[in-house]
Amino acid sequence: MTPLVKSNRLARRLGLKNLYIKNDAVNMPTLSFKDRVVSVALTRARELGFSTVSCASTGNLANSTAAIAAHAGMDCCVFIPSDLEAGKVLGTLIYNPTLMAVKGNYDQVNRLCSEVGNSYGWGFVNINLRPYYSEGSKTLGYEVAEQLGWELPDHIVAPLASGSLFTKIYKGFNEFVKVGLVDEKNVRFSGAQAEGCSPIAQAFKEGRDFVTPVKPNTIAKSIAIGNPADGYYALEVARKTNGNIESVTDAEIVEGMKLLAETEGIFTETAGGTTIAVLKKLVEAGKINPDEKTVVYITGNGLKTQEAVQGYIGEPFVIEPRLESFERALERSRTLERLDWQQTNV
Ligand SMILES: *Cc1c(COP(=O)(O)O)cnc(C)c1O
Repeated sequence: MTPLVKSNRLARRLGLKNLYIKNDAVNMPTLSFKDRVVSVALTRARELGFSTVSCASTGNLANSTAAIAAHAGMDCCVFIPSDLEAGKVLGTLIYNPTLMAVKGNYDQVNRLCSEVGNSYGWGFVNINLRPYYSEGSKTLGYEVAEQLGWELPDHIVAPLASGSLFTKIYKGFNEFVKVGLVDEKNVRFSGAQAEGCSPIAQAFKEGRDFVTPVKPNTIAKSIAIGNPADGYYALEVARKTNGNIESVTDAEIVEGMKLLAETEGIFTETAGGTTIAVLKKLVEAGKINPDEKTVVYITGNGLKTQEAVQGYIGEPFVIEPRLESFERALERSRTLERLDWQQTNV
């Protein structure tokens, strides 16, 4: 169970009244929502008798598969695109799996893994174990319903890569209605993509029910899937719930990361920055009503994508270990604050 945070300061900044953050930046053990899906997939892999588990990953899935395989005592071989952030690579290698860094994008990694899966008899969490893996995301829905006091929200905003988690939150809510744990409600589902990889957002905007694959080019690497497996279903959920699917630029993603950190004390990765930036865009466009009880899903941790904000945040004041040096620096920081305030208020 990760925290559901009533986010009053972010809400005020955006002009909302009833905003919550579901904070999977602190999900255990590897600080992203992927631990939910991998724990289900590996439990089932063990039941089915697989001794080696594997995955095609945009980063977080590699961390999670390697960590949970280590805990379960299973052999592990994971595949990633070779240009991932240092934190994602290190956060996989520490668990000592076999790590294949493929010179290509995620969609190419995924295609290679389908071929490997056919001939090696390994359990790929997001390929031959995918039906079990994806069910793990329903807990994102279950927990929010419970944390809101056995009630569904009015609107959710979540990131889209393959589109799986988005559709499984929907499934989780509906299962709780079916078994009578919560009253039925028309929850609106809105999805977030990075402009540099937004095949589902483009299909939504153009009124298409099929997704045209794209070549990813964005800092939001964890959600950079150009050929999303569940894109069709994500479009269907957004449309039938009267939601939206929007995309934002890399610059807006960085601003989204900073905004969430400054207002709520939550350091998210680029996927979370995407989601916050899309939230802002939807509010500004009047596509989220300020009174709606809105839950935003933050799916990963900012310490793993430090490259994305390097150069866009402040710097420390380096001082001598003497009081005058501190006081001079403090004076400088206050001047900078005043300038900053003047700039943003012209
Ligand atoms: C994998 C991932 C997603 C998207 O997951 P899908 O279920 O494939 O849409 C979102 N956020 C983060 C941080 C991820 O690692």
